[in-house]
Amino acid sequence: MLPDQGSLAVREGAMAMIGLGVVGCAGRMGRTLLREIAAAEGMRIAGGTERPGHEVIGQDVAAQAGLAACGLVVGEAAAELFAAADVVLDFTQPEATAAHVALAAEHGTAMVVGTTGTEGETDARIAEAAKRTAIVKAANMSVGVNLLLQLTRQVAAVLGPDFDIEIVEMHHRHKVDAPSGTALLLGRAAAAGRGVALDDVACRSRDGIVGARPKGEIGFATLRGGDVVGDHTVIFAAEGERVEIAHKAGSRAIFARGAIRAALWAKDRKPGLYGMKDVLGL
Ligand code: NAD
Repeated sequence: MLPDQGSLAVREGAMAMIGLGVVGCAGRMGRTLLREIAAAEGMRIAGGTERPGHEVIGQDVAAQAGLAACGLVVGEAAAELFAAADVVLDFTQPEATAAHVALAAEHGTAMVVGTTGTEGETDARIAEAAKRTAIVKAANMSVGVNLLLQLTRQVAAVLGPDFDIEIVEMHHRHKVDAPSGTALLLGRAAAAGRGVALDDVACRSRDGIVGARPKGEIGFATLRGGDVVGDHTVIFAAEGERVEIAHKAGSRAIFARGAIRAALWAKDRKPGLYGMKDVLGL
């Protein structure tokens, strides 16, 4: 029987939607991504995988993230997901990401990599895969933080060495590293704006009689407490005036939204390794 006009339109609508796959779909970011995809217009969940032996294997992809069931079950076979999805989002761990990028290259599927801590062999594999498909990779996918990085570089270049640069960050009490990776990225951006290397001018903490502030130093101050997701402020202080630019993260959803924006941008893009700077046109 031929479908009536109404159901045909519904089916064509579903076909036109962009299918996003999530590897590591039961992780903190994986579940946040699923919730954001479900809430976004023009996108659908194309499937999800987890590491072999994970308790959610065989469960409904959306339901395990607290959403209404979508009729797709969590699998272990990432190859199937790469064949079915328009773009795959990966917030897992470096070894898993290394395997996933090879599948992305094999299937010509665009990919967004948010996994941090990749280095050496994994970075080489990502670069190799990016010769055959579009990959967007960034250690911080928040649109706001990426804008802050760009602004920091510009402001540092315009204000020049008469302005002292201090970077203040605050995170929740469970964070183990200091200063935060994002604070260090901001420090690098400020140093780049001044045409110097951060390692040559950074002061990562102060205690006791440390002497007057050397000209050109880029200082860091670390605050820890409560459930703060991540606050970063870059202060440019001179005689008589002060410029401050800040970003405050309220939830992990900002990383997921940035990743989804990157996925839309990467779909149908020519092969290459891109960053959020490219996605945002900064
Ligand atoms: P998590 O441990 O909660 O989630 C990771 C998930 O990946 C787990 O469920 C794990 O079982 C799964 N996984 C591991 N190996 C797998 C495999 N081979 N196949 C499928 N799934 C596999 O961690 P998280 O907090 O969600 O963070 C994940 C990564 O994303 C970390 O590297 C973190 O630093 C990074 N991260 C990046 C951003 C960003 O903006 N780029 C933001 C937040 C977190």
